[in-house]
Amino acid sequence: MPRSVLVSGGCGFLGSHLVDRLLRRDDLETLVVVDNLWTGSRDNIAHVSDPRLSLRIADAETFTTSQHFDEIIHLASPASPVWYMREPARTIKANIGGALNLLSLLRPGGRFCFASTSEVYGDPLMSPQPESYRGSVDCTGPRSSYDESKRCTEALLFEEQRVSGLDVRVVRLFNTYGPRTRIDDGRAVSNFVCQALTTGILTVHGDGSQSRSWGYVDDIVDGLERFFWRDSITYRGPLNIGNNREVSVLGIAKFVCSLVQGSRIEHHAPIPQDPTNRCPDLTLARQVLPGWEATTSYEEGIRRTFEWYRRRIVTRDRSAASA
Ligand code: UDP
Repeated sequence: MPRSVLVSGGCGFLGSHLVDRLLRRDDLETLVVVDNLWTGSRDNIAHVSDPRLSLRIADAETFTTSQHFDEIIHLASPASPVWYMREPARTIKANIGGALNLLSLLRPGGRFCFASTSEVYGDPLMSPQPESYRGSVDCTGPRSSYDESKRCTEALLFEEQRVSGLDVRVVRLFNTYGPRTRIDDGRAVSNFVCQALTTGILTVHGDGSQSRSWGYVDDIVDGLERFFWRDSITYRGPLNIGNNREVSVLGIAKFVCSLVQGSRIEHHAPIPQDPTNRCPDLTLARQVLPGWEATTSYEEGIRRTFEWYRRRIVTRDRSAASA
């Protein structure tokens, strides 16, 4: 059966990779991307010439159309702490307001998919974190606009499922990196790579012993693809999606340094309430998505990401020089 799909945040880093996957679907009739280009960019989908795709520049929380959709995938939200901490109200609107508004565009019986986050676990007191862990979030802390709006949107969707049988799919994404992250995104991998390629100084907050589990975007999108659009799956979420190889921030910075001769690490003040660790328990993901695994090592993924940025930065510098 032909399907109409809406993706909010489809011009973003993750969203644009998901758009590429959606366009491989034979059952996809129309794909509407709703994006306000806050952290996303038209460039991320500029390579697409598929007539099924249309882009609407709009906020997810106010977008209107007479069309109703078989599937809605709500990704619209900044994911970088630098960006969401700068505009907390807008972050909350994008997540919760976006979900509330987009729900009204779902056709009866349609499916609503949502990208939640490992941030719902806060600064976790257990490792690895299973979906059943209720987390350790400071609801008035500096990360709360993001953490709490993701948590509240999860609540909204699971409660709608309970009272009205809404078909929901909710993933909790762990740290994801790869090509198409903004140069000024501010998250660790893209920051370190861009710093190595420009100033040569990599800024590590604190001593760098805080850890994350770094997932390469292709692996993460593989997981999303399996979970979001396989009709045979009956589990609705939440489902951890990520790479479970936990590596310190210092370890990542050192690896990026090894790619550029002469680059070095500089330690900066720790970020308030920076989570000390983060690692997905993937037991449930392996049951729900048999065969799926995040297989790209951080060494391989960072090398690929590095090449992508290197080409972009060289092109940018050449055009600035000739301007
Ligand atoms: N980080 C860092 N230097 C940077 C960017 C990030 O040391 O230039 C650290 C940050 O303090 C955190 C980790 O890298 O401990 C991951 O940060 P990121 O912003 O990528 O994502 P988070 O997991 O904090 O949402």
